[in-house]
Amino acid sequence: MMIQSVDLTNCDREPIHIPGSIQPHGMLLAIDLATLKIIQVSNNTFEFLERQPQDLIGKSLSALFDSQQINTIQQCLNGDFESLNPLHLYIKHQGKNLRFDGIVHQWDGVALLELEPKKMKGKANFFGFYQQVKGVITKIQKAGTMQQMCQVVVQEVRKITGFERVMIYRFDDDETGIVVAEDTNQDIPYLDLRYPPSDIPKQARQLYMRNWLRIIPTSNYQPVELIPTNNPLTNQPLDLSLSVLRSVSPIHLEYLQNMGVAASMSISLVQDKKLWGLIACHHSSAKYIPYSLRAACEFIGQVMSLELANKEASEDRDYKIQLKSLQTQFVESLSQAEHFLDGIAQMGSELLALVSATGAVVCSRDRLICIGETPLETDIPPLLNWIKPQLQDNLFHTRSLSQVYPAAESFKAIASGVLALEISKIHQNYIIWFRPEVMQTVNWGGNPHKPVEVLDDGSSRLSPRKSFSLWQQTVNGCSLPWKHCEIAAIAELRSLIVGVILRQADELALVNMELRRSNEELDSFAYVASHDLKEPLRGIHNYANFLIEDYGDILNEDGVAKLQTLVRLTQRMENLINSLLHFSRLGRAELIRQPVNLHDLVQQAIATLTISRPQDQVDFRIPQTLPIVECDRAQVNEVFTNLIGNAMKYNDKPEKWVEIGFLSTTDKPATSPYTFYVRDNGIGIPQEHQEERVFQIFRRLHGRDEYGGGNGAGLTIARKIVERHGGKIWVESTINQGSTFYFTLTAEAMG
Ligand code: ADP
Repeated sequence: MMIQSVDLTNCDREPIHIPGSIQPHGMLLAIDLATLKIIQVSNNTFEFLERQPQDLIGKSLSALFDSQQINTIQQCLNGDFESLNPLHLYIKHQGKNLRFDGIVHQWDGVALLELEPKKMKGKANFFGFYQQVKGVITKIQKAGTMQQMCQVVVQEVRKITGFERVMIYRFDDDETGIVVAEDTNQDIPYLDLRYPPSDIPKQARQLYMRNWLRIIPTSNYQPVELIPTNNPLTNQPLDLSLSVLRSVSPIHLEYLQNMGVAASMSISLVQDKKLWGLIACHHSSAKYIPYSLRAACEFIGQVMSLELANKEASEDRDYKIQLKSLQTQFVESLSQAEHFLDGIAQMGSELLALVSATGAVVCSRDRLICIGETPLETDIPPLLNWIKPQLQDNLFHTRSLSQVYPAAESFKAIASGVLALEISKIHQNYIIWFRPEVMQTVNWGGNPHKPVEVLDDGSSRLSPRKSFSLWQQTVNGCSLPWKHCEIAAIAELRSLIVGVILRQADELALVNMELRRSNEELDSFAYVASHDLKEPLRGIHNYANFLIEDYGDILNEDGVAKLQTLVRLTQRMENLINSLLHFSRLGRAELIRQPVNLHDLVQQAIATLTISRPQDQVDFRIPQTLPIVECDRAQVNEVFTNLIGNAMKYNDKPEKWVEIGFLSTTDKPATSPYTFYVRDNGIGIPQEHQEERVFQIFRRLHGRDEYGGGNGAGLTIARKIVERHGGKIWVESTINQGSTFYFTLTAEAMG
């Protein structure tokens, strides 16, 4: 076969289902289903029947079979031909009955009747078939592992058929075939050998899915062509996909001959509608296996195919038990951690054990947490960017990263295997696991890279390898492969994480709602209470004054003094109520944000304070010009006024000073907050009160009238304002040396 290009995929394009010829160990009759007339025959009818093809073409089936047999054939065509084949047919010839195994299929309006002469005496019956397979099936089911099952099958198939070598090929993910079990009487074992994907081209695999058993009794046979060449109904070559006699690709025959194989049989092993592997049988001389034995082998192949899933499942069982316990720990750790990424990272070695990895990175938009052996932190972001478009169903995995991502060459020793999981695209949360490079020696059946031959005339020809002797290749840049169950475990992990996050988000939303509701209730209670209390209070105040004015003369000194105290107390209470009202209004009023020049604002606040407290001699310091910040001017003014006022008040030093500034902002991103401070050299605040007490409403650390008095609401109001702006307020202080109040404000929308 001449092929122009040396591209190996040419082999994939050979139309092997329409070879136009069959193997010579039987004959084929194509019958028009509408008329039951023979329309095509193989050019070997004379050998079997002493009748030339031309004698048969156009004839009705009755020219060969009696009416009872024709009925049987028709029944087979109408029914489930898979289970009815083979038919035991005979054709009368010179007073003798020529006996055949008849195999019938229909395809595209044409029935294919293939006749193989019976070589065994007697009728193969159901009982014989049952005897052959029942023991094997029990053994297959009893086998504890996949490997044991494969071994049982090669031994039993060899026992039934007598082939010299029976093997099981399993196809790897890259379609390489690996011999995983073997029973042979030959010297050289093929166990563990690999065959490159080009050894079994794609369309051959497709046919193997439709037709579970193939046999080639003699690999150096002469193909028998069909007469006429094309199907006269369609004028196209006859589709022989389902034919058992179909002639095999000359490339495949040459391949077998190069391997020293004269007869071969192969049975498909199928799992989840995919070709999992093959039972491959070889013989160094011609060998014919009668249909009944082939049916037994095919049945064994089908039972093994069904059992594959069970065996894989039991192999995975231990792993799954271990996995479940890891997953439980995971969920626990996730639910306890404040942020789920920390929860994942805390898992440490368990995170690695989950998929037998040696390193992992937990990534979010602004953070990387590396666990175990990983590439450098600087290598991760570009790797992640490369992985993102490759993700499928949130997953990406490879066992040889440097082959697909050349930049990984420098860290292939620790990260040849990569398994990446996307947890959230929006939040840029990913986990990447790594496996190290494992130097591996692969035993090939012949050099897999040399199936191309250059002919004398200089043209290239796709030719199967001539040498099948062991050819070793060292594979580098590869890690151990990620198992299906490991990849599945990671997919499951994602739904666990997402489940935990969603639950936490729900809980948080609930708590937030509660909090907002109770805050609103509190605000409106404070408002109503303070608003409604003012009126009777004013009444008490007025009436106490009326009493002094109208009855001052009648009352003695003590009575007047008590009334005056009453008036003072009502004033104090009004003052408190006003503060409360003001505080509750703060929680209800909308913030009016606008760019505010804080430098001007602070200077005005100082000016106002100095006017109202002329007795205080204070040195005010503003070391840098304060920035412009987007905020509510009146409220922020109140914060500065309260803090600066306190700094002036709570100071007993002869030389008082107050400094107002903000912390250095080098490298400050536009949206991160400014930290302002108001510092004094005053009396200081005891450590135990710095955290909470000074910020509580109506709490003073001093007697009512000490340090110029006050009602203890200033800092509470300041905190409320800062928090409404999304900031924080706190104090650092040393007793007798001074205090510094800090608060943050975000320069929002200024950038
Ligand atoms: P007040 O009206 O009493 O000043 P604040 O809420 O402003 O109320 O302050 C609460 C208490 O915190 C004050 O009574 C005072 O004891 C203490 N305090 C506030 N600022 C300072 C400061 N700069 N130095 C020392 N103590 C302070």
